[in-house]
Amino acid sequence: MNLQIRYASMVIALIVIIVIALSGTLFFQFKDLTEELGEVSAAKMKAALNQQMVNKGKMVAATNGDSLTNALYQFDMDRMQNQLISIKVREDVIYTYIFDDQGKILHDGSNAISHFGQQLDTFLDVRLDLRQREVYEQIIREQLVVVKPILIDDEILGGLVIGFSLHAINQDILTTQQEIGAISDRHITFTAYAALLTTLVLVCFGIALAYPVTRSMVLPIRKLVQLVQEIGKGKYDAKLEIAREDEIGQLAKAFNHMTDSLQRSNQRILHIAYHDDLTQLPNRRLFMDYLGRVLSLAKRTKKIFAVLFIDLDDFKRVNDTLGHDVGDELLKEASFRIVGSLRAEDIAGITAEIGQNLNVSRLGGDEFTIILPNIKSPLDASIVAKRIIGNLAEPFFLKQRDVTIGTSIGITVFPDDGTDAKSMLKNADIAMYQAKENGKNQYQFFTQKMNDNALAKLAIESSLRKALKKNELTLHYQPKIKLPENLIVGAEALIRWHHPENGWISPASFIPIAEETGLILAIGEWVIEQACRDLKALKIQGLADIGIAINVSSQQIHQQEVDTIVALNLELHELDAPQLEIEITETALLEDDSNTRDLLQKLRDRGMKVWLDDFGTGYSSLSHLRQFSVSGVKIDRSFISDVHTNENDEKLVSAIISMADSLSIPVIAEGIENPQHLEVLVKNRCHLAQGYYFSPPVPLQDFMELLKSSASAAFVRH
Ligand code: C2E
Ligand code: MG
Ligand code: MG
Repeated sequence: MNLQIRYASMVIALIVIIVIALSGTLFFQFKDLTEELGEVSAAKMKAALNQQMVNKGKMVAATNGDSLTNALYQFDMDRMQNQLISIKVREDVIYTYIFDDQGKILHDGSNAISHFGQQLDTFLDVRLDLRQREVYEQIIREQLVVVKPILIDDEILGGLVIGFSLHAINQDILTTQQEIGAISDRHITFTAYAALLTTLVLVCFGIALAYPVTRSMVLPIRKLVQLVQEIGKGKYDAKLEIAREDEIGQLAKAFNHMTDSLQRSNQRILHIAYHDDLTQLPNRRLFMDYLGRVLSLAKRTKKIFAVLFIDLDDFKRVNDTLGHDVGDELLKEASFRIVGSLRAEDIAGITAEIGQNLNVSRLGGDEFTIILPNIKSPLDASIVAKRIIGNLAEPFFLKQRDVTIGTSIGITVFPDDGTDAKSMLKNADIAMYQAKENGKNQYQFFTQKMNDNALAKLAIESSLRKALKKNELTLHYQPKIKLPENLIVGAEALIRWHHPENGWISPASFIPIAEETGLILAIGEWVIEQACRDLKALKIQGLADIGIAINVSSQQIHQQEVDTIVALNLELHELDAPQLEIEITETALLEDDSNTRDLLQKLRDRGMKVWLDDFGTGYSSLSHLRQFSVSGVKIDRSFISDVHTNENDEKLVSAIISMADSLSIPVIAEGIENPQHLEVLVKNRCHLAQGYYFSPPVPLQDFMELLKSSASAAFVRH
């Protein structure tokens, strides 16, 4: 039962009860009153008639009594009889007697006077007062008995008794009473009907009144329920329009107040949910939503538009070297410059149609996106990209210093580079990566080939994840040879992946992907564990007096406790620190000084050797080598391949060796492929060598054989 019906029923029930109680009370009061009135008027009428009768009887008795004085005095029986006969003529007279001063019957009007001499009061059962001088009366049953004492000069001679019948009067009274009763009954019936009718009218009126009353009470509540349901569905602008000053009006005001604050906090939540906290630009969610809308509009209007994926170059360096506060400032300033790089004509058109200007978003970190909905050709997008790169190239003045930063931008154009929001963004991202690979601080349009490469990378990434679990990875070992004795003094552990379908996959193709995806952390940990296991195997074979070097990526340095992992594994396999060596690339060393310096120091403190890999490719200086206190350098293969023919290369190699000598650290030449290479290096007094000329990287078992065979004699591979 709903609220209105319940209220209406209650109101109606209340009205019915009140009306019935009222009219019932009035009716019964009226009935009682009418009955009492009938009784009182009957009694009054009866008393009046009786009194009338008494007066009349007394008068009759008095006049006749007076006329009988002489007859009684003279004892004239005839006159007495005549007199009595004249009295008896009256219809209402039942009997009449004359009595003497003793109360004995003298005459009864008959000839025989059969009751002569009888004591009148005993005979008639009436009260006689023989001393009474006035007429007196008594009513016995349906009779009025009037006694008239007859006197002569105060001497009582006797008296006259007349018995009047009251039957006629009583009959009259009864009839009148009945008539009054009938009248009051008619009145009562009429009143009952009137009460019933009034009740009915009032009930109908109550029903008619209950509906609007309850409706006016229930309607706002019903509206309220409806609005609350709408709020439940997320419509916070719902308002209760009730202009009343009563409790319902106050409720409406309170409700509207509540929806206002709900709406405000909802807007705030929406803003937080859809905007980036730092720059207040739309975030990824809002960008995707907006991109979807721009896309469907472009589909309908058959227009082209572009998505620009912007990434600041080496932003991490700013964060790491100048701190996150400066990084945040830079991002804010960069966001202003990006927004400022857009001209009204770049974003007009579609913005007006969609009603919002959400063209610049921050996806997270140092990644921004731009939607250019109003381009005529892809060239327009490149103009904007150039402008952004130019604006961001201006130095940022942060913390009292100028900071410069490059920008890489990837561009996709609808519909050629994607027909849905996800692929437009993904392809712009791929193009941005390509811009970075091409040397950063430039823009790059997306091409299908990039997509193929990206897909191939994705495929490698997913199977690499499985490879770790399925034991598809192994370590191969390439000996490090001491020159000029040609003795194996160590080895480099190089990772190998045997894919069940694609066979051997080179680390050169999967390590960069592992680094991009962060998988390198898990792989790096596995390499440390595996190298320690293998070292343990070598130790068991009595071949452990050599150093095994593992390659460590820069990501591991920044994101992993490499020294702790190494220490744990050494302890687990009961190995000594100097048996495990580390190779880090020169470029990793240059990326970030503090972290790398700390790690190198920790490793050196444990007694481990740290080699600087691919030396010569990163332009690090002598001072760098001193600063980082590395154990040795490995000359990159690219300087060795032509060393026997290219004079400059030889000079460079020679310079590196002298530089290392000056620091008293050893040098390894990588990529010795032939005796000519070896000859030049020996000539330049290179300390160590590594290359296919001696041995390619081989499985542990083969490496053990190599060690065994070179244990007694110098290692020579011909
Ligand atoms: P790298 O550390 O500079 O390793 C030397 C690379 O040169 C190895 O390539 C090795 O097989 C190759 N090499 C050795 N001698 C010769 C030669 O005479 N001629 C030629 N052409 N190449 C030679 P590989 O094994 O393909 O590894 C490539 C790179 O992958 C490594 O360069 C290293 O940067 C990385 N890498 C390999 N294993 C790991 C690992 O376990 N962890 C990490 N983070 N990186 C690894
Ligand atoms: Mg290496
Ligand atoms: Mg190398």
